[in-house]
Order: sequence, then C-alpha cells, then structure tokens
Amino acid sequence: MSNLEVDPVEQVCVDDPAAGVQVLEPRLVPLGGPRAMTVRRTLPQRQRSLIGAWCFCDHYGPDPVSGPAAGGRAAMDVPPHPHTGLQTVSWLFQGEIEHRDSVGSRAWIHPGQVNLMTAGAGIQHSEVSTDATEWLHGVQLWTALPDAHRGTAPFFEHDEPEPVRVGAATLRVFVGSLAGSSSAVTTFSPLLGAQLDLPAGGEVALPADPGWEHGLLVDAGEATLQGARIARDELGYVPVGASELRIAAGDAPLRAILLGGEPLGERIVMWWNFVGRSHEEIVAFREQWQREVIAGDDPDGRFGHVDGWDFALPAPELPNLRLRPRD
Ligand code: MN
Repeated sequence: MSNLEVDPVEQVCVDDPAAGVQVLEPRLVPLGGPRAMTVRRTLPQRQRSLIGAWCFCDHYGPDPVSGPAAGGRAAMDVPPHPHTGLQTVSWLFQGEIEHRDSVGSRAWIHPGQVNLMTAGAGIQHSEVSTDATEWLHGVQLWTALPDAHRGTAPFFEHDEPEPVRVGAATLRVFVGSLAGSSSAVTTFSPLLGAQLDLPAGGEVALPADPGWEHGLLVDAGEATLQGARIARDELGYVPVGASELRIAAGDAPLRAILLGGEPLGERIVMWWNFVGRSHEEIVAFREQWQREVIAGDDPDGRFGHVDGWDFALPAPELPNLRLRPRD
C-alpha cells in the first residue's frame, strides 16, 4: 500500500513521550431540579466512552450547599432512581452524602471513603447531601458490568482505604489494587480507581499493566501525564501499551483521580441510568421502571423500594431514534 497524497509533507517522526495521551475536556451537565447542581462530565463523550470498564465520570464542586454562600442552590438532592448493568462508585473530597437503596442499605459517605453499589439486574437509590455539609466536592463514577455478571443480584459496599506512599505520591486505592494496597470492594473486571496526591513540584512513576488503559482526572493543581499537560478538571487518557505512568505536579499541589482497567471489549448501550446491550433492552428497562415504581404496579419487582421515600424520579422520554452502542 502506498501513500496516495500528491503533495506529501515532510514529517518528523520522533519518539514523543506525550504521544497517544488524549486530553478530554469536561462538559457541564445540570443534574436537574430547581436547585440543580452542575457536574463536569468527562465520560462518556464523543471522543471516548470507556476507560477499561469505567463508563461514566462526573466531577463536582467545591460547591457551597448551605449558608449564605449557597444562595439556595447546589445541594445534592437526588430522589430514588434506577440503575441496571453497572456499579456506581462515590468518592468525596469534601462533604457528607446519605445513600439509601432498595436492598435496604442506609450509609453515609465522607472524604476518604468509597460507596460502591453494584446495580446488577436492577436497583434504585437516593443520594442526598446532609445538613452537616457546607461544601460538597467529589466524583461519581460508574463501571459497566461485563456481560457475564450484569444480571447479578444488587448489593452495596463501603470501604475506607488506608493511604499508601509511593515516592512523593500518596495514594488512596478505592477500587482494585496498586502499590500493595487493595480495596475491599468487589470488581467484575480488572479495574483501578485511586486518589493520587502529589506536593507542588512532586513526581512519581507508577508501574502499569501494558494491557490496561488509564485516565487521570485532575481535581486540583495541574498534572503532567507521560509528558502531556492536563489542566484542572480535564481527564488525560493513556491508551494500552504503557508499562509505567509518569505523573508530575505543577507549581501547586496536585490532587487527581487515577482510573485504569483492561479494555472492556464489549459494546454497551447507555441511556439515562441504565446500561444495557441493545436499544430494545433499554426500552424494556425504562418500561419496567415506569410500570413497577412510577405507576406502582409491582413495588416488589426488579427495582424494589427505597425506605423513607414515597417518590421516585420518572424516566425521561426516550429520544426519537434508536440508541446506538458505544465501544
Ligand atoms: Mn444513581
């Protein structure tokens, strides 16, 4: 095969260490409701749907949620809503959130703790920032369950990982394992999620599995990732092939979320709070939610009931087109 350009340009080909790093910009998404908080969403987006099985990355705050600074807005107040085929992973930098779900869990989450909910075949949950919260700041991540496990019965887990030092970095491994630290929560495909802190000017080289892809979401400061600059609120993506992740802080301390995983290798369909494998399956999940919970026909069905609530979020209308898979 030959290059068919009639006027080929000269290209300098060097071994650029930043090559292959993709910088994903967040888009602002209001969570809905009159006092809606706005989140910065970096996954999914047009350029990228998945990092390993990580399929959703919402980053929010610091937002004032009480007192004069809040001006009556920005509390997290999300009534019961369903999930299927995924895990929700909540991690806070500031604040307190109360979680309730239809398997009977009632749990609070604080900075340094992880709440992981495996939705499996179907669950519903509520998430409300508490009155004790003045500032809310954190991430909500989802993992797509592999096909073999997405029908599993739903369950909820909570953990508080011990911080570990690797060179200048402090890591809090809340999903998977890194640097001898392992999270206690369940994963269904090879995955990593960790908070990474570096002092101003600090740098670290972390061992990486070349079969994995990785992402670094910058929460505070700015990062250099494999030589590429990642600004605050951006998500830097490193494709498979790296045996080491070289991360450096700028002039300010760096706080970031490190994600990694083996490519899922499956086509998924995401719509609203559901992950499925086809348009028809999503339509069926939506109809079941509306029938069981919103119309109240079968409160003991797939999605169960959340104690303390007599209200749940109705599903939006489906778009007037076929939902297409992402891979
Ligand atoms: Mn949710």
